[in-house]
Amino acid sequence: MKVTYEPAKYYVWAEILALVEKWCAAFPKLIKQYPIGKTYEGRTIICLELSSSQGVAAEKPGYYIDANFHAGEVTGSAVALYTVSWLLENYGTDADATAMLDNRTIYVVPRVSIDGSEMYFNTPFTLRSSTRLFPFTEDQPGLHAEDLDGDGYITQMRIKDPNGDYKLNPEDPRLMIKRGPDEVTGDFYRVYQEGKIVEFDGIEVTAARPRWGLDVNRNMPAFWDIDVKLILISDHSLSEPETKSVADFLIKQKNIAGAQSYHTTGEVHLRPCATIPDKAMNQDDVTAYKELGTRGVEFTGYGHCNIFEGYMAPSQRDKPLRGVYLDWIYNHRGVLSWSTELWSPTNAAGCTKNDYSKDRKLQTVKEREADLLKMAKWHDENNLGCFVEWHEFDHPQLGKVEIGGWKPKFLIQNPPTRFLADLCERNMRFTNVQIKAMAEVDVRKIKVEVMADGLYKITCGIVNKGYLPTGGTHLAEQIKMVRPIEVFISGKNITVPNGKEKIKLPQLKGREEKKAEWLLLGKAGTKVTITASSERAGTARVEVVLP
Ligand SMILES: [Zn+2]
Repeated sequence: MKVTYEPAKYYVWAEILALVEKWCAAFPKLIKQYPIGKTYEGRTIICLELSSSQGVAAEKPGYYIDANFHAGEVTGSAVALYTVSWLLENYGTDADATAMLDNRTIYVVPRVSIDGSEMYFNTPFTLRSSTRLFPFTEDQPGLHAEDLDGDGYITQMRIKDPNGDYKLNPEDPRLMIKRGPDEVTGDFYRVYQEGKIVEFDGIEVTAARPRWGLDVNRNMPAFWDIDVKLILISDHSLSEPETKSVADFLIKQKNIAGAQSYHTTGEVHLRPCATIPDKAMNQDDVTAYKELGTRGVEFTGYGHCNIFEGYMAPSQRDKPLRGVYLDWIYNHRGVLSWSTELWSPTNAAGCTKNDYSKDRKLQTVKEREADLLKMAKWHDENNLGCFVEWHEFDHPQLGKVEIGGWKPKFLIQNPPTRFLADLCERNMRFTNVQIKAMAEVDVRKIKVEVMADGLYKITCGIVNKGYLPTGGTHLAEQIKMVRPIEVFISGKNITVPNGKEKIKLPQLKGREEKKAEWLLLGKAGTKVTITASSERAGTARVEVVLP
């Protein structure tokens, strides 16, 4: 049965559910779905588990992918769905897809902030994550975004005002640029978001606190502190059902060793930590992150960096981000994880890219204006249709205004659909690098020696076939997140005289091999099984027959 999946399309929630149903019916041996929790509005958050019937899913190294932690960052769901489709359609024909489902279990939560994404798709509003009104349940004083002209988009309003801070860009009068400090004559404007003002006093127009101020990506129990409460974006750690569901699932699923969370925008693969620089981290993990980042960006062309060091400008570092998912999953769980910021309209337009390997320089007003001009040119040449031409409107509070500007959702925050499939393919390849690099235990070089009649010595090598350590990260071992590797021998009527059927081995580094050895009593012709079991690097079993 062929499942129709469209890579160049954004799926609303009902469409995702229908697609998942079809996948589960068409590929019952490769995929199953189950609920992991409910959203604030009561929608069921689902996880897709992908693994072939070769081996038991929970006994394979697990890789976790989620998307749409933030409501409007719907490109993330597109990459997650693309990955699922690719794995299912290519299993058995493509060597990588086959190995990924035979030797790994891939967990995909295609959308976390489902309520928020539904609002994003079905109304003109944009929001950060949950639809729960926070911290206030009533509209606060100030300007609230609203689609006044009813065209389906919340864009901008410009109003002629001799004291305005903006003027028309002479090279492209659709765009507004900052008025110079010495400019006294000319036409000037004030520029606001399209909307209405609550408790308008006839003079001041300032942006109100948004209705939906919650940020579920500041809601994880990692370095959460009162700072987050003070800026009113998170109530207390794990206060939201979306974050609680994800955290519970990741705690329960012991085999998960790596993770990827898809966001927009910026074209950068972000890695831990948000709170400390590389030099304060586990250095072996930093080395692995850099190696994997460099290898992966060959597919995407994105940058990669430590959030604190490369993503936050030096001026922002005295207030590091708190309660961030990536810090929790790495620092508290020891899972090797990335958050990828997909898409950048200015990169697509050929503007100068951010260099994330250096201290990040925040753009000046002039640089931003030059980028917007270039973006407008690229937008027009490609007939993207993402600019609402300025048009007059009678504002109930401000009088005559003009409404217009960029459509915020499918150009600025997410790519127009024609760019989607290529973006998905490249990012899936980056993530596949991470999945291939994961640790995987194996039993090899088995030697059986007959020491005396009925007495055998069995030796073997327990190897980590992957590049990464068996704990997922070196930090995992340091913080005791993973149990030792257990190697044991079993068989009918065999006895191990010293009682040590089970041997415990420390975590293995990438490609490392260690010896295991038993003396046992048994009969010739008996089948003996050697099992090596690691929480995060899988379980391997090999049978030998006593000679
Ligand atoms: Zn985000």
